[in-house]
Amino acid sequence: MIKLNRTNTLQFFNLLKETENVLIFSHVNPDGDAVGSSLALVAAFKSININTKVVLPNRAPENLRWLPNFECIVEGLSKSNVKALIETSDLVICVDFNQSSRVEKYAALLDECTKPIVLIDHHQNPKLNATISFTDTSVSSTCELVHLILKQNPDIIFNENYATCIYVGIITDTGVFSYSSSHAELFQTVIELINLGIKKDYITQQIYNTQSENRLRFLGYTLNERMIVMPELNTAYIFLTLEDQKKFNYQPGDAENFVNYPLTIKDIRFTALFQERENDVKISFRSEGQFKVNQFAEKYFNGGGHVNAAGGKSHISITETLENFIKHTKEHAHEI
Ligand code: 5GP
Ligand code: MN
Repeated sequence: MIKLNRTNTLQFFNLLKETENVLIFSHVNPDGDAVGSSLALVAAFKSININTKVVLPNRAPENLRWLPNFECIVEGLSKSNVKALIETSDLVICVDFNQSSRVEKYAALLDECTKPIVLIDHHQNPKLNATISFTDTSVSSTCELVHLILKQNPDIIFNENYATCIYVGIITDTGVFSYSSSHAELFQTVIELINLGIKKDYITQQIYNTQSENRLRFLGYTLNERMIVMPELNTAYIFLTLEDQKKFNYQPGDAENFVNYPLTIKDIRFTALFQERENDVKISFRSEGQFKVNQFAEKYFNGGGHVNAAGGKSHISITETLENFIKHTKEHAHEI
C-alpha cells in the first residue's frame, strides 16, 4: 500500500489555494513520464483556475507531441527567459527528477530559486532542496504519484485529457505493465483512468506505432552492427557513434527503448546503451533481477536512477568509455 504524507498533501493543497501561476520543470531528454506528469498537472490545475507553464531543457520526442495541452510546454528556452518565467510564478513544481543537474542549463535557477518548490518524483536519493517533497520509489511512475496526490483534492475536476497524460507516463515507465514496478495497486489507478474516458488502445498506438520507417531501419542497423553480446558476463551493450546517428538522420527520442532489446536475449540480465553526442556520451543501463544499475551508474558514470533502469554520462571518448564499462562489468560479474 502506497502511503502519502498527509501533512505534505494538505500543505501542498493550501499552497495551491494561494496560487495563480505555476511553473513546472522536468528533466532533459524528457520521456513519457516527464511530459505526462507535467501535462496532467496542467489539465488538473485548469479546473481550479491556475495557469501553468512547463519548462523542458530540450525538445520532447515526436510521439509525445500530440498530448493534450502540449502548447503549454516551452522547450530549450534561454536561461534568462526561464528566469523571467520563475519570477512571474507563485509556485515551482519539479516532476520526474530529483537533482537540479537533470535540468542541465537551468540547474542554477532551481538552486537559487526563492519561490516555493514542490518536488514530485519516484527516483532514489533526492538531492533537490524543495519546500514540499513527494518522493516515493515504490510507485511505478511520477504520473502514478501525481494521481495519488491530486485525487485527494476535492476541488479538482478530472477529465479525459488529464487521465490520458497520467496513462502515458504509466505505460512508458512500466513498459506497458511489463516491469516489476507494475504493482497491484497500480491497476486500481488504471481503472480510474479508464472510467475518466481514456482511449487506451489509441494511446498505445500513438506512443508505440507512429515511428518513421527510418527509425525502424536505424534499430535494425543498431542491433545488427552495434550490439555486442558478452554471454560470459550475462551482459550486452549497444553503442552509437555520431556518424551512425547522422547516417540515419537521428531525431531526439529515436534511440529510446533500444537499450531494452538485448535484455530479451536468453540469460542476458544487464544491458547498456552508449550514445556519442557532441560533448559527451549519454549512457542508459537496464537490468533484470538484483543487479543495481543505479549504483553502477552513480559509481562509474556520473549518473543514477532506479535499481533496474538508470543512466549516466561520460566525458571521455566513446572508445575509452566502452573500455571502462567492460572493465567495471567484469568487476561486478558475480552480481549480474
Ligand atoms: P534513460 O536510460 O531512459 O535515459 O533513463 C533511465 C532512468 O535513469 C530514468 O529514470 C532517469 O531518470 C535516470 N537517469 C538517466 N540519466 C541519468 C543521469 O544522468 N543522472 C541521473 N541521476 N539519473 C539518470
Ligand atoms: Mn519516471
